[in-house]
Amino acid sequence: NKGKKFGLTTWIFIALLAGAITGIVLHYLVPGGYIKDTVVINGVFYVLGNGFLRLMQMLVVPLVFCSLICGSAAIGDTQTLGKVGVKTIGFYIFTTAVAVTLAIAVASLINPGMGLDISSIQQAETTIAEKTSFADTLLNIIPKNPIQGLAEGNMLQVIVFALLIGIILAKLGEKADIVSNFFSQFNDIMMEMTTMVMKVAPIGVFCLIAKTFAGIGFNAFLPMLKYMAAVFLALGIQCFVVYQGMLKGFTGLSPITFIKKFLPVMGFAFSTATSNATIPLSIETLEREMGVSRKISSFTIPLGATINMDGTAIMQGVAVVFAAQAFGIPLGIPDYVTVIATATLASIGTAGVPGVGLITLSMVFNSVGLPIEGIALIMGIDRILDMARTAVNITGDAVCTTIVASQDKAVNRQVFYRKK
Ligand code: ASP
Repeated sequence: NKGKKFGLTTWIFIALLAGAITGIVLHYLVPGGYIKDTVVINGVFYVLGNGFLRLMQMLVVPLVFCSLICGSAAIGDTQTLGKVGVKTIGFYIFTTAVAVTLAIAVASLINPGMGLDISSIQQAETTIAEKTSFADTLLNIIPKNPIQGLAEGNMLQVIVFALLIGIILAKLGEKADIVSNFFSQFNDIMMEMTTMVMKVAPIGVFCLIAKTFAGIGFNAFLPMLKYMAAVFLALGIQCFVVYQGMLKGFTGLSPITFIKKFLPVMGFAFSTATSNATIPLSIETLEREMGVSRKISSFTIPLGATINMDGTAIMQGVAVVFAAQAFGIPLGIPDYVTVIATATLASIGTAGVPGVGLITLSMVFNSVGLPIEGIALIMGIDRILDMARTAVNITGDAVCTTIVASQDKAVNRQVFYRKK
């Protein structure tokens, strides 16, 4: 079994690379680069890639629901749950604020929007985030109808309902044996299903990546190279310096081991640009490879996939500096403070699906009076950044989870250091 697991990790990476190369080759194979309508891309790649994505999405709600019920029932008392919750949310908000600050600093050094010829960049239509008041956003966490919450995959509502069931199961103890066993067996079934679906991951990853690259090629990137470089650099620092420093500092665990074992999950998030679909794989990998108890992760990972988007916040921070420079609008320290606050809130409000970060960006632009047209400038190349920032988004969740779990003595260090 050991050899097989190593095989899957390697295969996902081979698929990532091969998919990128295939996509780029296909893009340039047809003169003019217009190759969107071939049978291979729109038929085979689309069906296999999205089929795989749908399989992963299929797992999310039942897996989160059952594993969170089992997790909170196992923790039992509400005090411990509350402590874990407060700590986790604190970590999530803190890392996001650090991420935006870092993004603004990096972008101010690289100056991505300086001397930019705005007319050279392709324009696209802009969607603006719908305004929901803060009070309504808060109220929305409570499901009026839990079945609807489950059906719509509203993660925060699912979390609240599952937590309550788990807490009550713990309180009732033996009296609710049948229901407890039902959820724990259903949980086992969902885990088994996750393992099954992951077996076809390399095929799905290959197709998703090939389709994306066949669509965009290289040319679209050129005028935006500096903007992209700033985002990538800040993402890299957040992922490999900030997170790993926190992991080492708070838990003493090896960052190298963490990265090595978590890489396939990042590869998956990169290929799908969907935090939500990554939840099952993230929980599984944290438990099986790193010994992080599900008691914690079944709560913190879905919560993080919903409210903690450090990669998205980084893109938004860089985008603000970029647009301010491109339009020649000077921003001062108070503006940047506003950006840090709104980008942190926007990250909480960004759903873990592709492209939403660009929509919530309008909130951030609004807060400092930047023209929304600025978003249209970066829309053409956002997909590739979306992929990268999603990988960072879910890594942030996993690092915070490991730290919180470690402080709760819920990390099995032997499993963490076990060779793959
Ligand atoms: N695609 C991102 C995610 O799923 C959200 C975004 O930034 O658009 O985490």
